[in-house]
Amino acid sequence: MAGNPNLLEAARNLQDQTVCFLRDLIAIPSVSGDEERVIQRIKREMERLKYDRVWVDSMGNLFGQIGSGKRILVFDGHCDTVAPGSLDNWRCDPFQGEYHDGTVFGRGASDQKGGLAAAVMAGRLLKNAGLPPDVSVIVAASILEEDHEGLSWKKIIEEDRLRPEAVILTEPSNMAVRIGQRGRMEMKLTIHGVSSHGSSPELGENAIYLCSPVLQEIENLNSQFRGDSPLGKGSIAVTNIRSSAPSLCAVPDSATLHIDRRITRGENEDSCLEEIRHLPSVSKNRYDLGIPEYTVTSYTEYTVREKASVPMWLMDPSHSLVRNAVNTYQNLFGEKPEIGAWKFSTNGVTTKGIYDIPTIGFGPGREEEAHAPNESVTVEEVIQAMAFYAALALQWGESS
Ligand SMILES: [Zn+2]
Repeated sequence: MAGNPNLLEAARNLQDQTVCFLRDLIAIPSVSGDEERVIQRIKREMERLKYDRVWVDSMGNLFGQIGSGKRILVFDGHCDTVAPGSLDNWRCDPFQGEYHDGTVFGRGASDQKGGLAAAVMAGRLLKNAGLPPDVSVIVAASILEEDHEGLSWKKIIEEDRLRPEAVILTEPSNMAVRIGQRGRMEMKLTIHGVSSHGSSPELGENAIYLCSPVLQEIENLNSQFRGDSPLGKGSIAVTNIRSSAPSLCAVPDSATLHIDRRITRGENEDSCLEEIRHLPSVSKNRYDLGIPEYTVTSYTEYTVREKASVPMWLMDPSHSLVRNAVNTYQNLFGEKPEIGAWKFSTNGVTTKGIYDIPTIGFGPGREEEAHAPNESVTVEEVIQAMAFYAALALQWGESS
């Protein structure tokens, strides 16, 4: 089958500047919370590419707009990364933007500076092609995603009142179309006991011992969870235990478990809390159970209190946005894309999960390389993603 060579060719013509831009993005470290310099670099690029409007909001997210129509299509790419971890595991410098044999290496190459670079450059293709008068395309470089996915978009939608008609996430997808992901929540379970002198443990109620059957019952929950296609089944893991006692020579009077729970279709915050309350070894003890909250401060000193819980989201595969993406891919590359769900979590938890804005994902790079040492992305995929983003925006603009 013949593909559509025009946008691919136009994207290839931008290859040298795209590689240059992407290598710069990787060479500017932007671990979550420290995104100011990389935001300024992307802003300069948007201005150079003659975006119609470029601005940074009070939290520090960057936006570049093409067109001025009321129908808004957003391409979202987070510009923060996780830390490099032990440098011993890296074969290259994570912050050099190394480039050889058609591949760019470094922290964020896959997750997700490659996708962000492709979206920013796609703006130039759209500027040249011209959008229908009722359409605007906004490329967003969002922040703080790695530790608090969805947080930036809560602020953008609620406070800035920017309400897109559809959102394309540019996270790595192995060039497949992503239509959902599991949700995620943390729980804090404190079991209370009674302290006594360590020399007379029989006089107390050891909170650590009380936790022992609790741990087993939590682990057993995993075998009761049901599968769900394409999201997969929920999961639960105890990730931390702390205890407190009047001294190390005393029986502890409380122990707190930190629990990570992945949420699939049919599960929610309340059902997950209930599940813990109903465990026999929990209900027979004195306990406290809740979802932890964190205070998050951005590089602009914007501060917000955030509950550690995000919902799952899933698009109907027959939705027009998904069909648009499939048609776009087919026209461009002459074959059908793979469609499925992401293993990891994204800003879709807010755009689709909370606000029900049609959202899909597509990006260059291997999902399994995200957060791993020696991350990389091929220039060919970045160029193809750029052409895909531009073609999708044009096709979406023509549909209503
Ligand atoms: Zn990511």
